[in-house]
Amino acid sequence: MPGRYPDARAIDIPLSFQVYNSFSKKKETFEPLSEGVVRMYNCGPTVYSRVHIGNWRAFLFADLLRRWLEHEGYEVRQVMNVTDVGHLTDEVAGEGEDRLEAQARREGIDPWKIAENYTQQFLDDGQTLGCKEAMVYPRASDHIPQMVEMIKALEAKGHAYRAGENVYFDVKSFGAYGALSGNRVDELDAGARVQVNEEKKHPADFALWKSDEHHLMKWETDFGPHGFPGWHIECSAMARAHLGDQIDIHTGGEDNIFPHHECEIAQSECFTGERFATYWMHTKFLQVDGGKMSKSLGNVWNVDDVIERGYESRALRFALLRGHYRQPLNFSWDILTESTRALEGLDDLVNRLRRLTDAEDAGSERVEAASTAFRAAMNDDLNVPKAVAALFVLRSDVLEGSVKGESADAALALLERADGVLGVLRADESAAGGAADAEIDALVAARQAAREAKDWAAADAARDELNARGIVVEDTSDGGTAWFRK
Ligand code: AMP
Ligand code: ZN
Repeated sequence: MPGRYPDARAIDIPLSFQVYNSFSKKKETFEPLSEGVVRMYNCGPTVYSRVHIGNWRAFLFADLLRRWLEHEGYEVRQVMNVTDVGHLTDEVAGEGEDRLEAQARREGIDPWKIAENYTQQFLDDGQTLGCKEAMVYPRASDHIPQMVEMIKALEAKGHAYRAGENVYFDVKSFGAYGALSGNRVDELDAGARVQVNEEKKHPADFALWKSDEHHLMKWETDFGPHGFPGWHIECSAMARAHLGDQIDIHTGGEDNIFPHHECEIAQSECFTGERFATYWMHTKFLQVDGGKMSKSLGNVWNVDDVIERGYESRALRFALLRGHYRQPLNFSWDILTESTRALEGLDDLVNRLRRLTDAEDAGSERVEAASTAFRAAMNDDLNVPKAVAALFVLRSDVLEGSVKGESADAALALLERADGVLGVLRADESAAGGAADAEIDALVAARQAAREAKDWAAADAARDELNARGIVVEDTSDGGTAWFRK
């Protein structure tokens, strides 16, 4: 179909990776600090309950980003932390109860056990959803000495102060506080978004270390006998411990921008005197009826809930990755049904390409255009919807018979490359629960032999048997046969 694709050379193809940086609020050309290596920190789960599929939208985005960077030839050092202490119930005000301890009280078990159980479940869910394993999943509770070191240095440099056994960060000591979120210190005054706390010099000052003798997860330090860290210092310390003073990319969900990431920048940059992260990337929420899917609102679903409804985990992965990460995504069971259908279409494309036996070559320009369009879309701030659309255009080309021979092999190679990034196609069709390929091949050969022997009854019987197994046999232009799963 001439004219369907613009000339590949004429499209404005981003040859290098463009990322939308939430810090500068514009798209920038990605350039890592060290050539060929990407240091990436992803804010991970707070393990006080089962990670829900909204969280998975943020974590799958991190996996997609890592896979795309690897596709582009980078070595990615990916760190995704596990918050097992210090994340309070009111995270904006930095007040309330430790989420782990509140859950421990509700479940009547030890908070360490809660953390262990839900951490393991998070790692298992990650495997179910096809996430590549990060270089490390550091636990906050394993990094107390690194946090204490940073807090003491911040105090020595005049960025932190003590109030009894609590230690606070002095937001007025960091002129750039608010640069990420746009919140200005002088507007963050008492009664607005932060509660009045008499100990603080400024209402927006946040806790680096808190003292509470009733806290179950606590440490004896120079600050006092029973303290625990603030949530923000945990990520600054873990990023530094595993990736160094400066990192390339920091990710999280949109709610992490303020206060969490704003505070991380303040702590890390006051400590090192250098820029902390070059690129900040934030995933918009998975929503339910236009609002955030969140544990506190009780409108959450987890991976098992989705599988119990009869959907494959890859359909969930695809549903969460298919929308652009900077657009909110509304959750409904329909998006899982649609994703299942779309995946069946792509599986079918792979199967058709595998079975094409034509010697003649055709459609190389279409495969080339699909390949270019896929890469251009992904390079454009991970535009998955556009990248997937390019694969579906290729599917129409194959269905109408325009791609054959070596070009069919090239199309298959493109799909494999694309799936190295998306991670949603079936590894092999026999895993689909259908009959094994060898059996089908034998039936197809039997039908062919019966036809050649003009034994029409036997040929029809073989076709019926294939039909019953969900297989369609087609005679190809070169006199051979090809078969597809329906
Ligand atoms: P938490 O376990 O609350 O610390 O959250 C872990 C990660 O999931 C953070 O990066 C959050 O921003 C992100 N997150 C939480 N809820 C959602 C949601 N509904 N959609 C997308 N990301 C979310
Ligand atoms: Zn974090």
